[in-house]
Parts: sequence; structure tokens; C-alpha cells
Amino acid sequence: MHSRIVEGTLGVSPRPVFFEELDLLKLNELGWEYPHSEKPLLWAVHKQYWYWGELMFEAKGANIYDAATVVFQPGREKMRLKPVDVKKMLAKNHDFMFLLESEAIEFIRETFSQYAGARKSVERVAANQMDYEALAKRMEKKTKQKMAIVKEDCDSFEIMPLNTAEEQGKKVFHTTKIDKFLASFSGGKDSQVVLDLCTRAIPSTEFEVIYSDTGYELPPSLQLYEQVQEHYHKLFPDLKFSMARNHESVLNYWDKIGTPSDTHRWCCSVMKTGPLYRSLKIDGSNKQAKVLTFDGVRSEESVRRSNYNRIGKGVKHDTVINASPILSWSSIEVFFYLWLHNLPINPAYRYGMTRVGCLICPFSSEWNDMISNRKFHEQLTPFLSRIEEITHNSGIKDIDIYIKEGNWKRRAGGRGMNFPSSLVVENNKPHLKMTIKNPQVNLLTWLNAIGKYTIFNNNDGTKTGELKYKDKLIPFTISQKEDNLFSVLFENTYSDPILQGLIKRVFYKATYCIHCGVCEVECPTGALLISPNSAHIDKNKCISCNKCLNFHDFGCISAASLAVTGTKKDHKMKLIGYNNFGMNEGWVEVFFSDPEAFFVENLAGLNVNEQMPSFAKWLHQAGIISDTKGKQITPLGSFLAETYMDNPDLVWQIIWINLSYNSPIAAWYNTGVEWGKFITQQEMEALVLNDYSDNSKTTVHNVVYAFVRTLKESPLGEMGLFSSINKNEFQKKGFDTIEREALAYSLYKYSETKGVRSLRISDLFSTENNIGAYREFGLTKSSIEKILRSLNSDQNRVLIAELNMGLESITLRDDIDSLNCLKVLIG
Ligand code: SF4
Ligand code: SF4
Repeated sequence: MHSRIVEGTLGVSPRPVFFEELDLLKLNELGWEYPHSEKPLLWAVHKQYWYWGELMFEAKGANIYDAATVVFQPGREKMRLKPVDVKKMLAKNHDFMFLLESEAIEFIRETFSQYAGARKSVERVAANQMDYEALAKRMEKKTKQKMAIVKEDCDSFEIMPLNTAEEQGKKVFHTTKIDKFLASFSGGKDSQVVLDLCTRAIPSTEFEVIYSDTGYELPPSLQLYEQVQEHYHKLFPDLKFSMARNHESVLNYWDKIGTPSDTHRWCCSVMKTGPLYRSLKIDGSNKQAKVLTFDGVRSEESVRRSNYNRIGKGVKHDTVINASPILSWSSIEVFFYLWLHNLPINPAYRYGMTRVGCLICPFSSEWNDMISNRKFHEQLTPFLSRIEEITHNSGIKDIDIYIKEGNWKRRAGGRGMNFPSSLVVENNKPHLKMTIKNPQVNLLTWLNAIGKYTIFNNNDGTKTGELKYKDKLIPFTISQKEDNLFSVLFENTYSDPILQGLIKRVFYKATYCIHCGVCEVECPTGALLISPNSAHIDKNKCISCNKCLNFHDFGCISAASLAVTGTKKDHKMKLIGYNNFGMNEGWVEVFFSDPEAFFVENLAGLNVNEQMPSFAKWLHQAGIISDTKGKQITPLGSFLAETYMDNPDLVWQIIWINLSYNSPIAAWYNTGVEWGKFITQQEMEALVLNDYSDNSKTTVHNVVYAFVRTLKESPLGEMGLFSSINKNEFQKKGFDTIEREALAYSLYKYSETKGVRSLRISDLFSTENNIGAYREFGLTKSSIEKILRSLNSDQNRVLIAELNMGLESITLRDDIDSLNCLKVLIG
């Protein structure tokens, strides 16, 4: 093995191939001879199989129903194989593995001692009536700096800024007090290695092993768990093992909230991590234990041997820290460890599975699906039959093809599900109005998660109340229309998108809660209690931290899987992503300096996979290139290239006008954020999410992030679209004025879109109107009039503006279009 890729090495880690996989591919029947040995016989990279450095065959076309076809290299149709000499291979790599595992053990030990140190120091000082953690937190708030507990030479503890502690080389004890340390065990090889490393790094009394039985575990994983338990109990009788399970079966959840899919991967939280962490309460209370889990996460794609992200806080649940000791290990290094330490290998790997997870999974490959159906057919059948039934019921004709191509894995919304409840958000600016049918739990169950509230019954059957949010009281009304139909109205919340988002989440949860229990894990105080048939918040314990609302899209796993959005027109709109890159001024300058060569010669040195397609998308939406593939410059693009040196402001204003028509996020900004408003990126994301609720939180974040970059990395922001107030806050200030050619262009674009040649200035200010110069630039009426007067008197006249005696009409020429209007004006 090499620690880096050098000539003669593979860039991808090969996996060992055992006789069971060759049997599955029927190589024994095809004339190959090989022993039924414990040792591997070949190596595979993707679906290519190698023996002594030579490619033997490829396996093609496997899927859940069909076996793979073996395509031999010429002359390799008949082979006699000898097993790999594992002993020799291990001896050769002994030193390398020694260093690798020593480093991982050191990482576990160090991480444990840092966090356990925090626990001990906290405990010790707590005995003296001081809460170190709370103290550190208070200081963090006050100084706005990350604080650390530091151990001094005399064995006493002190709190100081993390930066200072690091500069002074102090031993840092984390301020997060960990109640329990875990080694997660999943049945996969990676977690097996981490468990073994943990037993070598920290005392067996200091951590626990928990295995989550999702309800569709591979049978050999369950057997391996027993075997592993037995193995370690002999060595460490006090090492605690336990199994966590959700109170309901996974198939019940499939029926209630739909099959998991690549968009709705609810099964991992509901069946695996949720039950696991719910089983870890602080003794005698419902309070969630703070947990540090040593997991087997690996990232072969990331920069090797990097420490980045080796410790992640709140990755899946807010109360959990994940530490990944083998993050940079390759899969072959993991196998080496198992062989080196004589640990059992999950038989699923011997059949050829590349990843050991569940029997069926929206993220599994067709290859793994094939093995699952062949080797664990009986256990898979209930799930596969359910998928076939759902596919049949939804009227799809070629069911086999649909399933084997994995299309069932792409379910996006709750359409076609027969869930009896629904929530519809109605457009009722400036109020928030929702209609809720058949809520699953009391409507107000989660309202306390936003703030304290009062509520009264009125004589007419309605209820009115007030919700305390920050320093405001928000009036609300709940009226029952029919038996199970409710109308909920929160007054004047439109200007606060974060509050609106929280309120919606409260009611999504109440509407769709099926008591899966996942949000309970987020609660830091033990206030939230989910039992199989009820959900309850203890108001005395709830600190309205919003964590149970903000942990997931819609605030609820079930709502995210079931909610059929699209009840409001906006919901159906799709945002277009930009790979997180904005329309950068520097790139635009280089582009205009030589548009023909820009992409061909990559003049700006852009990353071809991400930056280049992103920039092409922006240019296309700005009307500068004809499409994102051919990237031909448009006549407008050529005109702007010629103009750029003389008048860049005009060019950017034209770009913005076109983005306002062609970029969904720019168009949204023109109507979704009022002129003069102070806004942060986070608030913008909350607002966009309100209006584009078919998009995930991540999509919205990425699109808004790219858009904000455009505003910051081009003159557009400071021109008036996004003026910086401080590091985080910006103002959509508006333009005092714009180039007169830009106003003319904007008017022509408006008229082309609306199909009119004359308009009134007041049309541009109409609240019904989503386009035009006011939406684009926030100009005042007098500022528009001033520019119009100038255009009116130009000898190259492109419009007639009648502005005297109370008139405000604009008439455009019908012999020119928006581009020609620029040409006429600039000549
Ligand atoms: S509200 Fe919480 S417990 Fe209820 S379904 Fe949603 S995530 Fe699960
Ligand atoms: S997470 Fe717990 S404390 Fe926080 S708002 Fe929800 S119920 Fe209240």
C-alpha cells in the first residue's frame, strides 16, 4: 500500500473478492476453478475483477431482479485461482498499518480525554456549586468568543478564549459536557474496526456499544452482532452492549409516511439514530444525554489523511458529537485491520456487497440490490412486494423496469399517499393563514417551542390568543370550520420570515405527527416527550429554544415525507442552483475582454466542473450567451462586451434586468424582499423556503448563498441591491438613479413581456406588478420622471414621455426592441 497515489497504484481502493461472490456470479459453472477458502481470491475495483495485477473480467448489468453478466477478457474464460497470501501481504504492510492504527488510537484517546476531562472538571467544580459549562457559555455569549476549559499545571481548571488557549499550547478540555461515550456498531466493517480501536484506546467501563436494529437489517449483521458481543465480553466483561429499536415496525412506517427515497431518507433517523439516542436519557429524567459517538465514517474522496471534519458537532442530532477515527482510511486498510486482528468479516462482504446497510435502501446500488435479493430473498420479500404493490397502485405500467431502474427511490413528495391530514398555507399578506385538516395531535402542542402564549375561548366558538415572541405579542385566532377542519391565523407576521417559518413548523408537526420520536432527541431540557400515542411539551421545562422545530425541513420527519405542497402556486416553482458560485465581477471582466476565447481557453482559470457551468448559467440568464452548452455570445452579449470598458455600471444594470426575468432567485428577490429592508442571508433563506417549500433547506441555502455571492462579488450589491450594514446584515436600499439607457431597456423588456407599447409610470409601482423598473431598482417616481425627461429630449428618441399636467404616460417605439433601443441610444 502507498499513502499517496504514485505511478503503479490504483486511485480507488480495491475490495477483496471471496469465493462466495464468484459462486454468486456462477464462475464455478462457467469453468473457473478456485478453492472455497477463507482468504480472498481476487480484487475488484468497481465491477472489474483483477488477479495478480491483470484484469480478468467485468460484471455487467446487475439489478434487483437480474443477475450480472460476466464478460471475460480474451483468454480468461477458464482460470484456476490460488488464494491471496494474506499473511505475506500483512507482513509487508505491517509498519504502515502500525502507524495508521496507532494514530487512530491516539485520536480516540485524545478525544476521549478532552471531553471526559470536561466532564470531570465540570463535575468537580459543580461539587463546589459552580457550573463550568454554564460559566463558559455565559462568557462565550458575553465576549462573543469561543471559550475553552483549560487544565493548568497545578491540576486546576480555568476558562479562557479557545484561540488564546491554542496559542499558549494549553491542554484544552471541551466545554461540552459529555454524559456518555459510544462506539456505534452497525454490522459494517468500518464500525467494527472503530469498536476494536476503542477497546484498545479507552477503558471498557467508559463507553458503551449500541446496535440499532432498523427492522431491515441484513441477517448476517444480526448474527455478527451476537458474535462480536461474545468476543468482547470474554475480553472485557464490563463492556456494555445494548440494542435500540423503534417502537413500531419499519413496514408500518412505510405504510404511514411512504417508502423512503433519496429525498426522504427518513428511515435512518426514525429507525436508527432516533431510537439509539432516545435510549440514552440521563438517569431518572427525560433529559437527553449528551453523547460523543466514535463512528466508522470514512471519506475516501476527501483529501487523504486530513483531519478536517474528524469531529462533527450536531451532525445528525443536536445532542450528539460524532468523532470519526478512521475518516481517512481506505476500505482496504479496514480489511487489513480485520485480518490483522483476526476479527470476523460480515458474510455480506463475502457475497460481494460493497456496503453493508439495510436489506433495501434508496441509496444502495443496483449491485447491492441484486445481492440482497439473491442471498436474502425471504427477508427482502415483504419490502419488495410492498414496493411492487405501491408501483402497481400508482398506475405505472412497466413495473419491473420501473423498479429495477430504481425509480421508486426518487419519490419526492407525498402525492399518492392516503394520509388523512393536510395543511394548506394561504396567501394572506401580511398575516399567516393556514387551513388544517384532521391534525394528528392537539394543534397547540408545539406552540410553546416558539414562546409562551395565552389562549381564550370566545362565545362564537373561536379561540383567540397571544404568542410572546422576542419582545412582541403576536395575536392569533383558531376557528373550527367543520368537525376536523381548522383555520389558524397569526396576525402581521409577514415581515418576519423566521417567525413565519417557526409557526408553520409548529402546525406541520401537529398536522402530521405520527409519534416517530425523532424530534425528542433534539430537546436539550427533556421538555418534549413523545410516546407511541402522544406528544407533550412540559411548559415548565421548555426554554423555547426552537430546536425541535428547526432540526428538519417542515420541523417534522413525517410532514417532510408526506406534505403535498403545491397548494400554493409558488410551491411548484423550482429554484435553479449555481453550484454555490455567484456571478463574479472579475470573471465578467475577463469574459468581456475576449468572449470567444473565454470558455475555449478557460481564460479565468475556472474549475471546469463547478465554476464554469455555474458562470455559464449566470451569463445565460443575463442574456449574454445563448445557452449553457454551446456558450455562443448573443447580440446583446456582444453589445455589452463593447460597452463594458466605457460604462460598466450600465452593463451591470442590464445584467440585473435580465436576471430579474430569467433567474428564479433574482425574480424572487424583486418581489420577496421590500425596498429598504434590512436582511441577513439566514433571513433570506427562511423567506425563500416559505415561498419555495418544494425545495429542501439545503437547496434553498445553496441557491441563496450563490445569489448573495453575486450581490457581494459584483457591483450590484453596493449599487443598491444589497448594501453592507455590518458583517451579517445588509439592506436592500434601492438605487438613487440608474443609467438612462438602463431605464429605457427596462421599459422595453417590460413592454415585450406584457405585450404593450404604452404604459403609465404608476403601473410600475402597482403591487400587482412583479416586473419593471421599480421592482428591479427601487427607483422613486421622481427619479424615473427625471430620466424619462432626459430620454424624451434625446435626439435619438426611443420613447415619448408625457409628464406634464398630471400625465404620466410612456409610449415606446414599435419599430425597435430592447436591444435596438440600446443601440439607438448609444449609437
Ligand atoms: S413531530 Fe416529531 S415525533 Fe412527531 S412525527 Fe414529527 S418528528 Fe416524529
Ligand atoms: S427542543 Fe425542548 S426546550 Fe427546545 S423548544 Fe422544543 S420542547 Fe422546548
